[in-house]
Amino acid sequence: MILSKIRISIDSQTNKICKIEKINQGVEVQIGKSITSFPSGTFIMPGFVDSHIHFFGVGESNLLPNFSDCHSEDDMIDIIKCSSFRRGDWIVGFGWNQEKFPEKKYPNKTKFDKAFPNTPIYLKRIDGHSALINSAAARKTGINNNTINPFGGIIEKDQNGEFTGLLIDNAMELVQSKLPFYTNSQIKTIVESSQESLTKMGVTEVYDMDFYPELFECFFAHGTEFAIRINSFVKSQNDEWRGICELPQKSGLWQLIGYKHYLDGALGSRGASLLEKYSDADTNGIDLLSEDELETKARFALNQNLSIAIHAIGDKANRVALRTFSKFPTFKNKLRLEHCQMVNLHDLQLLKNENIICSVQPIHYVSDTNSYMAQSRIGFYRMSDAYRWKSLLDEGGILVAGSDAPIESANPFRGLEAFVNSQNIKELISIAQALDAYITTPHKIYNQNRGKIEIGYDADLIVIDNNFIDNQKSISDTNVLATIINGKFIFNNGHNK
Ligand SMILES: [Zn+2]
Repeated sequence: MILSKIRISIDSQTNKICKIEKINQGVEVQIGKSITSFPSGTFIMPGFVDSHIHFFGVGESNLLPNFSDCHSEDDMIDIIKCSSFRRGDWIVGFGWNQEKFPEKKYPNKTKFDKAFPNTPIYLKRIDGHSALINSAAARKTGINNNTINPFGGIIEKDQNGEFTGLLIDNAMELVQSKLPFYTNSQIKTIVESSQESLTKMGVTEVYDMDFYPELFECFFAHGTEFAIRINSFVKSQNDEWRGICELPQKSGLWQLIGYKHYLDGALGSRGASLLEKYSDADTNGIDLLSEDELETKARFALNQNLSIAIHAIGDKANRVALRTFSKFPTFKNKLRLEHCQMVNLHDLQLLKNENIICSVQPIHYVSDTNSYMAQSRIGFYRMSDAYRWKSLLDEGGILVAGSDAPIESANPFRGLEAFVNSQNIKELISIAQALDAYITTPHKIYNQNRGKIEIGYDADLIVIDNNFIDNQKSISDTNVLATIINGKFIFNNGHNK
């Protein structure tokens, strides 16, 4: 899969690979008459497919106040003060993680009220499953000490019954639905920023989760200007797309191919739905859909020959999803289980029809266990049910890989590294299986002529400086020197010959 001493010619009409020749050193790429060369020690391979990413969110997190390096509420306030990107009159930010704060305590609105008494703020946690608002935002959205929890959500109150500012899972909708949306020029800036950061990491195609229907008009009008391949799954938990866009849709390299739903939340905010209680709290998490509701939604998508992507983290959520999906054994390549993070040993056999796509994010294992979050939430004995990459493959799951960026880095080399070199896990897979999950399998599922360096294949290629198959100890040290999508250089550090 990783080649060197090779010249690849691309037909500038069809954008496909039309000739492959041996050369003495390095890599050369010929598009039409122009040849770009890369020195000895460089390699060319098919581009990476990120099978679970929040494409627009990547651009947003590049531009919005980003709290991923914050260690306190004061750090967060400093970052907000340095940023000028706003949504209407709101300050919206992303990426805090109380695991990095003193005593690992959730932030509270008090300090934010002092710093921003009149400007509403909405600051999402790193996993996107909880958010902090201040009193100005609470006033604007009508949330107060007496507001009752919506179904599947929590408006957190302290021991005196006072709202702390924290909204969990479905409670976030109370604010999210009232945020002013971006202008068209802000949307284009965000798309370009996401595209630039992803292509520089070697990602040539993405499966984009929770596409906001509000983006539809702009994406449909400007899809032909996009340089990266985007396959979007529309946010569908509350039928948000109805009245805005019908599926499927396509414009340039962008297409809208399926529905995205949530069965539960995440482990970090104890929203993942577990069969037994959390090890560090008296709760089983949150169920966002019943088994019957999920079956209705799956049937709805499949009847239109569309895909359905289900977020399932906890072992209960995965049991419900697998049980529901196994009722549709003849549907191939349409049923996606996003995260598939904890699967009880008894439920693995539900993968035997070999038609369920298990879309995992290996980098989550690294972050969740380095911070000791996962071990605290589910305890030692249940850790063997989590991050089951090898078991999913062995039992018949169709394994594809992604990053969940911007929650994690979108760098696919870090994901590969996690798949093959992680510590303290029995579920490691081989580099060949990892590359299948990142490249070959997603193209096979959707019947695309991509992911191989062969004549007639789409020219979605990257040039790198490390043969990481031979040097498996240094996978994440690999640098991307150029990215070609649909026969065009999107990013290029080579020399014109
Ligand atoms: Zn996600």
